[in-house]
Amino acid sequence: MFADVIVDISHKEVDELFQYSIPPEMSERIVPGMRVFVPFGKRCVEGFVMRLSEKTDIEPERIKPIERALDRYPVINAEMLELARYMQSKYRCNTVDSLRLMLPAEMRTGKVQPKKTVLIRLNEDADPTGLNERQLEIVSFLAEYDGTAEKTRFCKEKNVSPARVRTLVQKGVLIEEAVEEYRRPYRILSGEGSSVVPTEEQKTAIERINAAADNGGAEFLLKGVTGSGKTEVYMSVISHAIERNKTAVMLVPEISLTPQMVQRFRRRFGDDVAVIHSGLSAGERFDEWRKLRTGQAHIALGARSAVFSPLENLGVLIVDEEHENTYRSETHPRYNAIEVAQWRARYNRAALVLGSATPSVTHYYEAQKGRYQLLELTKRANECGLPKVEVVDMRAELVAGNRSMFSGTLYRRLKECLDEGNQAILFLNRRGYSTFVMCRKCSYVVKCPNCDVAMNYHIGRDRLVCHYCGHESPTVSVCPECGSPYIKYFGAGTQKIEEEVRRFFPEARILRMDYDTTSTKDASARIFKDFSDGKAQILIGTQMVAKGLDFPNVTLVGVMAADSLLHMPDFAAAERTFQLVTQVAGRAGRDAKQGHVVVQTYSPDHYAVLAATHQNYEEFYAEELSRRQAGAFPPFTVFMRILFSSANESAAADACGSAFTTVEKLLEDHKESIILLTSMPSPIQRIKGKFRYEIVVKALKDGKTDEIADILYDVAQAHAAVENVNVSTEIEPLTLI
Ligand code: ADP
Ligand code: ZN
Ligand code: ZN
Repeated sequence: MFADVIVDISHKEVDELFQYSIPPEMSERIVPGMRVFVPFGKRCVEGFVMRLSEKTDIEPERIKPIERALDRYPVINAEMLELARYMQSKYRCNTVDSLRLMLPAEMRTGKVQPKKTVLIRLNEDADPTGLNERQLEIVSFLAEYDGTAEKTRFCKEKNVSPARVRTLVQKGVLIEEAVEEYRRPYRILSGEGSSVVPTEEQKTAIERINAAADNGGAEFLLKGVTGSGKTEVYMSVISHAIERNKTAVMLVPEISLTPQMVQRFRRRFGDDVAVIHSGLSAGERFDEWRKLRTGQAHIALGARSAVFSPLENLGVLIVDEEHENTYRSETHPRYNAIEVAQWRARYNRAALVLGSATPSVTHYYEAQKGRYQLLELTKRANECGLPKVEVVDMRAELVAGNRSMFSGTLYRRLKECLDEGNQAILFLNRRGYSTFVMCRKCSYVVKCPNCDVAMNYHIGRDRLVCHYCGHESPTVSVCPECGSPYIKYFGAGTQKIEEEVRRFFPEARILRMDYDTTSTKDASARIFKDFSDGKAQILIGTQMVAKGLDFPNVTLVGVMAADSLLHMPDFAAAERTFQLVTQVAGRAGRDAKQGHVVVQTYSPDHYAVLAATHQNYEEFYAEELSRRQAGAFPPFTVFMRILFSSANESAAADACGSAFTTVEKLLEDHKESIILLTSMPSPIQRIKGKFRYEIVVKALKDGKTDEIADILYDVAQAHAAVENVNVSTEIEPLTLI
């Protein structure tokens, strides 16, 4: 037998199967999916056995044997091997790039090992005669631990020296053994679970999903207003799968959202849930992965990468908040976790559920066309109404002389909320509304020297910072361009809101949840817990607070600037504005108390803002879809782009130009499908010192997308060889900025 191996080197040149012979003593152990150590050129490298074959074309004296196996069991199962091949063809990544996604990185480098705990217990057959008094006492202590204790803890709590324990082990009175311990993330979160009686709408959804899971699978779009009990539906269909000895994957958009979901899942499923996400320590991630691979846990809960969980026999895969951007990997290898989930659902004949209060326009359109079965939850589950929304026109506030970030209405509502002892969330979209510095005389804007974007002002550090590359510089008080002293700090960040709240409400206890306060591991979990425990009355935050958080005491949500995203030069700007404002507004009044939402905006008449304040998806969708159709935008068309970046501007421009000539020629045959084909400098011309040029294709959705994508991938690959130019291809990018 021979093994066909992919070596663990990410390079196009070696992305193929290499054959090795299997030494007789390994013949039992080497199976597809096993990691092996193999000679490669002059050295030995790690690799993955992709398949076994009986024949080889290599002469017997030239074929090299596998050096050794790296694990006791195949770390990649048959499904994942096939998935790696699918991803290789779909996303044009190296096979090994997708295989790497399927393993904890630390495992490949051999940096983590299972953590061992040493237990001591009484040997039932031992003869205690001949023990001295102190030794008998130690033995009697063990009774307090039901006969078995963790050694270090026992020694510490009972003040026993490890040497004495060793003596007793040598005498055969105690037995010492090392067992594997699983490091468990989120220890701070646990409690009692409760199960609810599903509403009629929930019942219908649950029954249809379960029927599909039992009968060969199907794809669902679950559209349910915020608080309608989608999470209860998820947990119920997962229970159903588990009862049938199947497994489940539950994807959530982001780490910061995970703690609350984890808490609910832990209560319901206990240790049957493994949590996978990048915020875990290396050891924790390895342990969670292993629990799933070895069948000790049957539910994987996590962000994007959890879609690669090593589970077998999947019954249901769920993607919560399916409209979120975070399901796309924007770095190599680029993949869409929703597409991967779709592939796995089909492979396992499982049910796939995409859930959201504000489905992506594309998915909703596809559901209308019958591509997904639509399930709807139209009412809040606990019978409390949707919150009252008040829209404030900030232009009028300005005219009335109010220059603060708080409108009169928001100030009054906040005061009322605090007086009543309730909690409030203030939401600000950081991107597109950060502080920038501008000269009011000549309108010079302080920009990053490396990137083509404005510098942001950080109040806490009193510095200017670039959010793209981290470059910092001191603040300015006179214009570097014209010398005028009329420098103004425009816009506002979460820090600025915090400062204003402190000025208006000096007594209030405030928490801030943004990029700066959540950079450390567990930070968002702690902020969430503190707020949930009532340690603060006001939570100020960015996108992070907009998502699934469910706090019963929150009666006020303030959207500081609803239109901050609206004017970005992007076809999806209105969709993102609608989603964000609707999601944030949905945080208010989750319990019996009446919720209030104050939406501050400079565009009170914009359809996305209006529909969001009515919490009316259909109203938004109808208008948006007709605009998309009129403008030939997705879902009616597909954007594709090849991006060239280089520190050397003319190198990037030249590579882009020559690739464009090739693309034009190769797309000759697809003229009917192509609406737009251009090459130009990117909207942000420079990031981190790299100049950016791009080729943009807009094509009809007429079934030719894959062929056109293939052509672009080929051209990009052919131009990837140009020195010092980075080339990347994006099919259906989320944004064209
Ligand atoms: P969503 O995920 O749609 O935002 P959740 O599942 O978080 O909604 O439910 C919102 C609140 O309603 C939660 O506190 C949840 O426990 C409660 N809830 C959900 N379903 C029911 C039900 N059938 N009966 C009573 N309460 C429910
Ligand atoms: Zn100036
Ligand atoms: Zn920069």
